[in-house]
Amino acid sequence: PTLRAGLDPARLTALQQRERAAYAAAHPRSQALAQRAARHLMFGVPLHWMNDWSTPFPLHVASARGARLQDVDGHAYTDFCLGDTGAMFGHSPAPVAAALARQAAQGITAMLPGEDAVWVGEELARRFGLPIWQFALSASDANRFAIRWARALTGRDQVLIFNGCYHGTVDDVFVDLVDGQPRTRDSLLGQVVDITRTTRSVEFNDLAALEAALADGQVACLLAEPAMTNIGMVLPEPGFWEAAQALCRRHGTLLLIDETHTISTGPGGYTRAHGLQPDLLVLGKPVAGGVPCAVYGFSAEAARRAEQAKRNAPPGHSGIGTTLTANLLALAAMRANLAEVMTEAAYARMATLAERLADGLRDVIARHGLPWCVTQVGARTEFQFTPTPPRNGSQADAILDPALEQIVHLYLLNRGLLITPFHNMMLVCPDTTAADVDRLVASFDAFVGETRPG
Ligand code: PMP
Repeated sequence: PTLRAGLDPARLTALQQRERAAYAAAHPRSQALAQRAARHLMFGVPLHWMNDWSTPFPLHVASARGARLQDVDGHAYTDFCLGDTGAMFGHSPAPVAAALARQAAQGITAMLPGEDAVWVGEELARRFGLPIWQFALSASDANRFAIRWARALTGRDQVLIFNGCYHGTVDDVFVDLVDGQPRTRDSLLGQVVDITRTTRSVEFNDLAALEAALADGQVACLLAEPAMTNIGMVLPEPGFWEAAQALCRRHGTLLLIDETHTISTGPGGYTRAHGLQPDLLVLGKPVAGGVPCAVYGFSAEAARRAEQAKRNAPPGHSGIGTTLTANLLALAAMRANLAEVMTEAAYARMATLAERLADGLRDVIARHGLPWCVTQVGARTEFQFTPTPPRNGSQADAILDPALEQIVHLYLLNRGLLITPFHNMMLVCPDTTAADVDRLVASFDAFVGETRPG
């Protein structure tokens, strides 16, 4: 029979049936909650994609702390998903939990700043090297607002992205290259505007295409992750960013770097670790320890032009901001997180564990002769169903196999190991232990042992 990513399809099917039955038998309380939820929550969940995990019905959480999560049936998990980065430094870090408790009793939201906002602005400037900052409720919002600022301050209407990117629910980025032609993503619900009128897309690592897209001087900003993480990981080739930044500068296009996932690289993100010089920078998800908020920074020149654009605009709503944005609670959490959790020491620990994980997975892949590879960006590690790492979004997309991913994920989940749904991505946090990593590698090895041919 034809193999699937080097594995035996019949064994995969049998294993999945067995694992689905084992999950159902072991999770009666989650099942009862799922049945109750089905009456009043659409698709039986508070957000429809919570239904898209590998499990026959959603796993319901009882509690989570550090690297560990407990479900309502009393099973314990080591969490390598960590809220898909929202809990990258562990669930409920003690300093954040304490700051939240303190602030919750002293005012949650007031539409006015306090001292924490001032401290956070100073710290973000120190960490990322961009002097001026604003806030948002989510990375999606931050990207949306940063794009609006970029258009306002350049007076240009086009946005450029890399094919296969994801930057949240930002309308402007849902453009795919289909046979080399841009197309509005057809899965979007209620989409009435043709996004390709104002968004251009080129392949990552393709400098010639980048130059061609910038050449007419109509592009306000290039919005990009420094390394792609949302279509499987795709790393920049040596020299790519140096040349891409020079092209942006030459054509007057702002570089808007989204560090939401690549903050796994180090305390100042991939930007600081690799000396990138963005005009705008976005960070969401883990910046306040999982409390919904995000930040975006401006270079001095971009900030000067942005302030000018706002002053020159007619009075009224800018289209930027929301009522609960940058409230007292979020800023208290962010301060505690930046000061005491997202530290050099935490990153050093995470880097060592991620190396151990990547090495362990590579060893399993090599021993079984699988045509897979492992890619790592700091604390973020991913296995991909290809022997050679993809160099752009189209190549990465071609090797995705969501059905196979689900089988692996369910197998691991039934053994007390959570990894991120919709990816093969694993994060380690400061509370993860070497023993946790070794257990994940051993279960991965056991999975391959059960499903490879022969
Ligand atoms: N940017 C990147 C790079 C992301 O991966 C995501 C979410 N996966 C977002 C932005 C959006 O984050 P949120 O869903 O928290 O708005």
